[in-house]
Amino acid sequence: MMKNYNGVINQLTDGTWVSTQDHKEYGIPIKRIEIRESLEGHESNLIEALHPNQKLLIVSDPFTYKAMGSRIFKNTQGKINVDEYIWEKPSSSIDGVEYLRKKLQGYDGMIAVGSGTVSDSIKYATFLEKKEYSVFATTPMNAYTTGTASISFEGVKRSLVAHYAKGVFFDLEVLSKCPKRLTAAAFADVICRTTAQVDWLMSHKLLDTNYQTIPYELLSLYENKMIESASQIANGEIDALALLTLISAIMGLGTSFTQTTHVGSMGEHGVSHYIDMFAGKNHPGTSHGEQVGIATLSMSKFQNTILKKNQPPIIQPTVIPDEEIIDKLGLSMLDTIKKSMQPKMFDQKKADITNEYFSKNWLEFVEPIREKMLDYEIIWSSMGECGALRTPEDAKLDSNFYKDALKYGRFIRDRYTILDLAGDSNQLDELIYV
Ligand SMILES: [Zn+2]
Repeated sequence: MMKNYNGVINQLTDGTWVSTQDHKEYGIPIKRIEIRESLEGHESNLIEALHPNQKLLIVSDPFTYKAMGSRIFKNTQGKINVDEYIWEKPSSSIDGVEYLRKKLQGYDGMIAVGSGTVSDSIKYATFLEKKEYSVFATTPMNAYTTGTASISFEGVKRSLVAHYAKGVFFDLEVLSKCPKRLTAAAFADVICRTTAQVDWLMSHKLLDTNYQTIPYELLSLYENKMIESASQIANGEIDALALLTLISAIMGLGTSFTQTTHVGSMGEHGVSHYIDMFAGKNHPGTSHGEQVGIATLSMSKFQNTILKKNQPPIIQPTVIPDEEIIDKLGLSMLDTIKKSMQPKMFDQKKADITNEYFSKNWLEFVEPIREKMLDYEIIWSSMGECGALRTPEDAKLDSNFYKDALKYGRFIRDRYTILDLAGDSNQLDELIYV
């Protein structure tokens, strides 16, 4: 096969990668991942090694069929037992999943070709049918290597426990032809490592929540190089795309080490979820990654502002603004919000203890967190070079609504983030409304 960009991945699929932190061996549930300049001509070998003697259905949508699906079918004809199916109107809704479950009758599994929609619905349909699947990616994205599927129920997206692919295959020549917007969104959805790690570590130190570093150790092998390659990624250069693909794959695998999505989903993801939940008719149709990128920049600005001060913030007891929430989000959200806020509420006593601790140990508290931060300017410029959306204006998202997302986003999830620290220390308004 052509040039191999697997990096640390082979050690992970073998279960032989050793962390420098705890000197233990780690592996992943996916049997094989290939990141290659091209996989042309190797499709049947790749499939057969993981799905021996199985009867399989290769599923593409009309776009991924052109990009890769037709080639895979052609190159596997007469070599392995496959049929092809072009899903004209793919949908990652539960209806789409049910449709695929029927299609699975008579097959041992499916080969997904590309797109989040096709891949996630196949992931969930094969999971429910207790069958297997592998995926040929057509874009760089985290979702291929996760064990969860994003499926919508009556328009509401839910992240559901599913299973892992047997194999995930990235053909970089195919990826280099995917729409630029998708590459930029993938970049935005992994550069959030920095804001998520800062939030998660802060939560660990303030609320004694769980915190794990294995995924960060893996990501740090490639993150700087990826950031430096932002403009080459936008140009579709293979070496640069390989870095983005590798980081996206590791980001997706993060949950397999930690059993929680905290590793790459904190304040910035909360803001993106808020947009999806409440923008309604004014949702500009931006993707998850695009929204996360815009929110990452806001989170980074807030983190850099607050956590680089030499004076600690002064925490006050947490206030849930009932009236504003009812007004903005509806009465029905209030109960949900009170429940999600429970684990991160500061009462007077906890505020006092924290302020006392900060006044004596602020630098000691904040130093290890600062080490995990990227400078705002670096995120801003690399996202620009990569062609990512950076502001609500770029996204054609109403800027007042976006300000609401920054202000009220903290209330919809139980994860403690910089938005909570800023809110509880009365700095959030000035950060948002300057
Ligand atoms: Zn994400």
